[in-house]
Amino acid sequence: MAVRDILMMGNPTLKLTAAAIEDPTAPEVAELARDMQDTLVDIKGTGIAAPQIGVSQRLVVYHMPAERIPAGAQQTTLPWTVMVNPVIEPLGDDVRLIWERCLSVPGLYGRVPRHNRLRIRFQTLAGVTEERLAGGYHASLLQHECDHLDGFVYPMRMTDLGDLVFASELGVEGLFYRYSPEEFDG
Ligand code: ZN
Repeated sequence: MAVRDILMMGNPTLKLTAAAIEDPTAPEVAELARDMQDTLVDIKGTGIAAPQIGVSQRLVVYHMPAERIPAGAQQTTLPWTVMVNPVIEPLGDDVRLIWERCLSVPGLYGRVPRHNRLRIRFQTLAGVTEERLAGGYHASLLQHECDHLDGFVYPMRMTDLGDLVFASELGVEGLFYRYSPEEFDG
């Protein structure tokens, strides 16, 4: 188990365009994915991109366990998923404002415009190319994580910085969930 430090917004590595991974089956890629998973479990996050632990490579790891979904939230569980070299293709023109958090921007929530539906193509750690459709918060999470691979943190995507707020000003988190039924921490 290797829990890694998370880089904070402003760190130069978070601003880079991450490099494509040439061999998804290389042992060091699996090791990196394991470290990212360990780090997510430790910090109780939903998703993480390799640049957030200081590795400028195109690798994303995420999950949404049942115990993280508050009562009444309209979210489904997501199994542990590792995506090597993911590429997003938005589907349709439906863009929604989604409240997001980021491990690299702790303590804050921001409302970010995101495509509601998308197709994502990626490679697995076995080197197999896969394609999935995603909608709702799952689509937002994928856009958030893939943005990290291109040097974006979510405030850079916001259209109204009046919606950038400290969690502490919103009262208890459970209250927040009532009007933010689809959220994640990536
Ligand atoms: Zn993030």
